[in-house]
Amino acid sequence: MANKGQIGVTTENIFPVIKQFLYSDHEIFLRELVANAVDATEKLKALAQSGEFKGELGEPKVRIELDEKKKILKVIDEGIGMTEEEVDKYINQIAFSSAGEFLEKYKDQIGSIIGHFGLGFYSAFMVSKKVTIDTLSWKEGSKAVKWSCDGSPEYEMGESKKDDRGTVITLYLDDDSAEYAEKSRIESLLGKYCKFMPVPIVFGKEQEWKDGKYVDTDKDKVINNIEPLWTRTPSELKDEDYLKFYRELYPMKEEPMFWIHLNVDYPFNLTGILYFPKIKDRMAIDRNKISLYCNRMFVTDHVDNIVPDFMTLLHGVIDSPDIPLNVSRSYLQSDANVKKISTYITRKVADRLEEIFKNDRTNFEAKWDNLKLFMEYGMLSDEKFCERALKFALLKNTEGKFFSFEEYRKAIEGEQTDKDKKVVYLYATDVESQYAYIDAAKAKGYDVLLMDCELDSHYVNLLEQKLENTRFARVDSDSVENLIPKEEKVKLEMKEDERYDLENMFKAVLPKGNDYYVSGDNLGEDAAPILITQSEFMRRYREMSALGGGMNFYGEMPDSYNVTVNMENPLIAKVMAAKSAEVAPQGELPAEAPSDASDEEKTKAREAREAVRKAHREDVEKFASDNEILRQLTDIALLGCGMLKGKALSDFIARSQKVVSDAYLK
Ligand code: ADP
Repeated sequence: MANKGQIGVTTENIFPVIKQFLYSDHEIFLRELVANAVDATEKLKALAQSGEFKGELGEPKVRIELDEKKKILKVIDEGIGMTEEEVDKYINQIAFSSAGEFLEKYKDQIGSIIGHFGLGFYSAFMVSKKVTIDTLSWKEGSKAVKWSCDGSPEYEMGESKKDDRGTVITLYLDDDSAEYAEKSRIESLLGKYCKFMPVPIVFGKEQEWKDGKYVDTDKDKVINNIEPLWTRTPSELKDEDYLKFYRELYPMKEEPMFWIHLNVDYPFNLTGILYFPKIKDRMAIDRNKISLYCNRMFVTDHVDNIVPDFMTLLHGVIDSPDIPLNVSRSYLQSDANVKKISTYITRKVADRLEEIFKNDRTNFEAKWDNLKLFMEYGMLSDEKFCERALKFALLKNTEGKFFSFEEYRKAIEGEQTDKDKKVVYLYATDVESQYAYIDAAKAKGYDVLLMDCELDSHYVNLLEQKLENTRFARVDSDSVENLIPKEEKVKLEMKEDERYDLENMFKAVLPKGNDYYVSGDNLGEDAAPILITQSEFMRRYREMSALGGGMNFYGEMPDSYNVTVNMENPLIAKVMAAKSAEVAPQGELPAEAPSDASDEEKTKAREAREAVRKAHREDVEKFASDNEILRQLTDIALLGCGMLKGKALSDFIARSQKVVSDAYLK
C-alpha cells in the first residue's frame, strides 16, 4: 500500500527555487547521482571485505540507461540499496532538509558560490518532472521499496517489484531538459564528471565497424578508468605511463616537458599529477587545464583560487577532499587548508625544477625556452617561488649559452663592472635588429644576454632588485663606450647656441612625432658619425606600461631618443663647416622690455625677439633639409636601428643610388 507524506523541508515549495538558482549548473545532477551509486557500491565492497556482507558480490557496476524517445534516464547500481526506514531517513528527512538548509544559507550569494557543488540526490529535480527510486537493501529479509515524487513537496512510498540488490533512480526528464535525453550529451557529461570514478560505469555498448557502418556489439561500454594514474604509487610508474596519461587527459596536446606526482596525506590529503607544457608565447598559453577532483569526482577546471596564479599555466589533475567546495571564492582564498595546499604545491614545483637543474642540466637547458615564461611569471608574482628560483633559473646569452645567476656573475664581473661598482648585465631583445649593437659590445669583450620573453621588461626590473649591485642595460641604450662607464667622463663643452643649432639641424631631418635629445660628443675619427639610442629607463617603463604594469604615464609619452653626434667624425666636421659658411649667425636679439613696461609692450618685445630666433631657426632647417651628406648620414643611423620606414626609406634608396652612380659612372 502506498504511503504518502510531506517532505521534511521548511520552504513551502523548494523545487522552483532550486531550478531557478542553479540554472547554469543543471548538468551536475548526473555527477551527483552517479557519485551516490558509486558510493553505494564502494560501501558494499567494504562490507564484503569486513565479512558483514556474505552474499555474492560479483563485479558490481554502475549502469546508465537512456530511453531517448520517452525521455527517461536511469542510474542503476548494485550497491547496498536502502530499506524503507533508510529511504525515509536519508531521502525524506536528510537529503531534502540538507538541500533546504543549503539554499537557505546561501540564498544571497548563490551566484558567487563556486560553480560546482553537490546537492546530492536532490539535484535530480533540476531536470525532471518526476523521479522514482526503486531500491532493495543488501540486508537479509529486506523488502524492495519504491519512492516517487513529482516535484511537489509530497512523495509516495510503497512496494517495489525490484528483485535484485541495489538502487535504480529513474528520471522522467522535463521538457526544458530535453537535451539530457540525447545520447551524445550524456556521453560527454559522463566523460567530464565521471571519467575517473572507482567503479566501472557502463553506458551503451562497444561498437564495431561492420558492413560500412558502426554497429553495437554485445559488449558493455565502460566509460571510465577506475585506476587513474595519480592514485597509483609513483615508484611503480615509468615516464611512458605519465605520457600516456597526459594523452588520455588531453588527446590533442603536444607532449609535456616534465611532470610532478603529488602525494601527501598530512596535514591535508592531496594527490595529483602536474605537467609542464611547452609554453612558447603568451598567445599560445592554455590556461585552466588543471582539473580539480574530489575523491575522483570531477569538480572544476578553474583552480585559480586554489593554486597561485602562475601555476594555472600547468596542466594536470589535483584530487583533494580537503578543499571546501560549497563556499564562496573569496572564502576559499582565505581558507587555511587551501593556503597550505597552495604553498605545498608551489614548494613541490620548485623542488622538482631544482632537481632537474641539478641532476639533468642538459635536459633543463634544452627545455628552457619553453619553460622561461612560466619561470618568469612565477618569479614576478610569487615571492617564495622567486627566492627558490633564483638558485636554478637560467640566463641565456646571444650565443645560446646558458648560465645560472651565480655562474653568470662570475663570468662577467671582471669586464662589466662600472665605475659605481655595479655589474652591468647587457642584453638584447632581438638578435637580428640589434645586431650592430651586439657586435660592438662583443668586440669590446662584453657578453650580451638574450631577453626576448614578453615579460622581460618586468623581469629585468625584478632582477635589479633581487641581485645586489646589478644594473641591466639593453645594448642599444647607449654608445658602446658609455654602456659600462668605467670612469667619470667629461662631457663635450658646447656653447648653448651651437647646441641649439645642432638640435634644430637634426630635428629637421629626423622622423616627426618622437622626442629627440641631441648632443655632440667626441667619439674619435673612426667612430660612427651619428648614434641613435633610446634610454634604458624610458624604454623599459614604456614597455612595462604597454604590458599593463599600471604606469600609464610612460605609455602615453612620445618615444624619446638620444641622438649623439660625433663631432670628430670627418663627415660631420664637413657638414658643420658647410653650415658655418652657408648660414649666417643669428642676429643680435632686440632688447627685452623694461620691467615697468606695460603688458602690451612686453608682449611686443618678446615677439620681436622670437621673430629673430625663428628666422635663424628656419635658415638652419633649410640648410639641413638641403644638405645631402647630413640626410644620408642620418638615414644610415636610422636604418641601423630599424627606424627608417615608408617614404623616408624609399627616398634614401633613391639618394643612395644616385650617390653610387655619381661615384662610379662619372
Ligand atoms: P549525500 O550523498 O551528500 O549524503 P544525497 O542527497 O546524495 O546526499 O544522498 C542522501 C543519502 O541517501 C546518502 O547519504 C545515502 O545514504 C542515500 N543514497 C542516495 N543514493 C543512494 C544509492 N544509489 N544507493 C544507496 N543509498 C543512496
